[in-house]
Amino acid sequence: MPIFGRPFASYHLWSLIAPAVGQERWHCQMKRGFIKARQKEPIVKALLAQASPPQRIGLLAQKGVYEFHHHRQLLNQPDGVEQVAQMLKLSKSSDQVQQRVIQILKNYHDDPVLEGKHIIELTSGDEGFPRPILIDQKNYHFRLYATMDCVFTEQDRTLHILDFKTGRSAFDERQALVYLVAARYLYPHQQAVASFYNLERCKQSELISVTSSQLDAIENQLATVAHKHQQDVLQYQEDHDKFSKIFPPTPGSHCRYCPFNTICKFSGFKPSK
Ligand code: SF4
Repeated sequence: MPIFGRPFASYHLWSLIAPAVGQERWHCQMKRGFIKARQKEPIVKALLAQASPPQRIGLLAQKGVYEFHHHRQLLNQPDGVEQVAQMLKLSKSSDQVQQRVIQILKNYHDDPVLEGKHIIELTSGDEGFPRPILIDQKNYHFRLYATMDCVFTEQDRTLHILDFKTGRSAFDERQALVYLVAARYLYPHQQAVASFYNLERCKQSELISVTSSQLDAIENQLATVAHKHQQDVLQYQEDHDKFSKIFPPTPGSHCRYCPFNTICKFSGFKPSK
């Protein structure tokens, strides 16, 4: 089967199929339909291209951490934050984005959590689409996408995958589990752990590690996600009129924050014109 005809899975797809704990009430399958089945339609593509302020803050924060470590001397210079802010062209962003990103840069300058670590990989966010990991098992085949913000090694050679967060949302352990499945293929000779670090709240999560049989089970679950989504997309491609049956909407007040509320006929929120 050609690589790109295979089903795929990622943490993002998993989170679109099944809600995180506590988010069940506003989970909407139709969003998955827009993002992962209709993403090439010009109007959907245009909406997807508009990064929301929280997404922009997340991207700039990641890039800020990257710049600090790409120009390490900035971590020790009193004007390091201002210099990184210039590299990020922060003055072109809204006041809200500027204020929050400056605070993130100050936090990081005061307490650079990666300082002294043996960094193997640190993404800037400009890398584009990640290369898939091809998972070929007896019962399933799929592409796995997992972009890791940062990978470093601990002194005992344990691989540590760190995901940077911003904002107030809770850490979703599933993301760490996907990284650990990916690490098993990318770094097969090393033990791996994963954790989250919130750059705004300076909060570190617990270390997350799993056994080999737990990794098998997670991989199996990702295969189920990949196959279910592929079936849904194929069904939609066969009959576009079935969109709302295949990807049922869950309208409500949360539609206010949905990027598709201007084109979704089920939206519980209509922006004023
Ligand atoms: S506007 Fe509401 S119902 Fe429509 S896709 Fe978004 S969350 Fe779902």
